[in-house]
Amino acid sequence: MPRFVDTSPPGVCIFCRIARGELPAARVFEDDLTMAFMDIGQVNPGHVLVATKRHAATLFDITPEEGAAVMRTVQRVAAAIGDTFDPPGLTLLQANGKEGDQTVFHFHMHVLPRHADDGVGLSWPRKEPGMEALHAYALKLAGALRAE
Ligand SMILES: [Zn+2]
Repeated sequence: MPRFVDTSPPGVCIFCRIARGELPAARVFEDDLTMAFMDIGQVNPGHVLVATKRHAATLFDITPEEGAAVMRTVQRVAAAIGDTFDPPGLTLLQANGKEGDQTVFHFHMHVLPRHADDGVGLSWPRKEPGMEALHAYALKLAGALRAE
């Protein structure tokens, strides 16, 4: 899959430059914390990115308020995509870190209209480690959540 990877440092990344109006973008919506614009790659017509206005690289760098604001904007944009493009399906995709397939290191979520046989795929290699392993994972996570 041909990929664009933005390697510019924080504060001058392409989404920060879009937020400041220094780079052109087909803007859809903005509020105090978020901005929505057309993905230049347009996997399907109506493909929108919702990003934080403030530079934050990943899910682990945004505030709970920014996370809630992004989801509010995503839901509004998704409804508008439904009204405008009427796709039979819609996928949200949010990637963190190089290994998580993130290519622009400024928090964003893809709002992607979907169609039958549109060529979009996500490999999902099921491992099914068994209930004993699942309970052990759950215990570790529950402990980490209690410690917060
Ligand atoms: Zn940025």
